[in-house]
Amino acid sequence: MLKFNTINILTLILVVFFQLISVSIWFYGCLFLVWLTITSIGSLHIRWNYHVNSLNSNYEVAQNEVSITFDDGPHAEFTPKVLELLKVYNVKATFFCIGKHIESNPELFRRIISEGHTVGNHTFNHKNNFGFIKTKEVVRELETTNEIIEKVSGLKAKIFRPPFGVTNPRIKKGINTVGLQSIGWSIRSFDTTSKSKNTIVKSIEKKLQKGDIVLLHDTSDKSVEILEQLLLFLKQNKLESVTIDSLFNIKAYA
Ligand SMILES: [Zn+2]
Repeated sequence: MLKFNTINILTLILVVFFQLISVSIWFYGCLFLVWLTITSIGSLHIRWNYHVNSLNSNYEVAQNEVSITFDDGPHAEFTPKVLELLKVYNVKATFFCIGKHIESNPELFRRIISEGHTVGNHTFNHKNNFGFIKTKEVVRELETTNEIIEKVSGLKAKIFRPPFGVTNPRIKKGINTVGLQSIGWSIRSFDTTSKSKNTIVKSIEKKLQKGDIVLLHDTSDKSVEILEQLLLFLKQNKLESVTIDSLFNIKAYA
């Protein structure tokens, strides 16, 4: 896959080459546009590992396992519904929680952990402009959330999911400063969009194979209904959802 540093080096080599052969200014303009396009796409697609090496899937996994992940909770109304379903199907999942939501729902956060699921950091505020904030602010978003997780549960979180899957050099620095492992996904459900439940379920089922990480949100009834269909599909296809740490055999907590 393309990497930010590789693209920068290639671009620099081409700039030097253009100077040697004295090309018109348009060549530089085109080169900049190509660099900008690749960098924009790489920053928005976590699976590219363009800026940050994220764990996005584990197709080497020995068992018939996948990982269902939930972002943006805990949510007082929907997280309990998700937990009930996971209990009925006796499977485990990973919840990437927003710091301010953990502060508002500490009991629910502890319940997620006590029922055998894994929790991770998903920033404190989940700012819409997360891709544009300074390194210092990225670090603050990550550190504050880790502090709340520790205060509420006693756990030191090691895994992090970038909001919207956005990465850039500042987010990379923030992740490294706080000492977190970025977790991406291989199947994005788009459960927060206006797509219908059936369209989403069909799209997931078409792609799903062992080792996949599925991105859902514990923030709406639609997501809960999608989860129910998905859990039934997993059972029928002898697949099991396990936590991220189990899928990759890593530690979720320090
Ligand atoms: Zn999110």
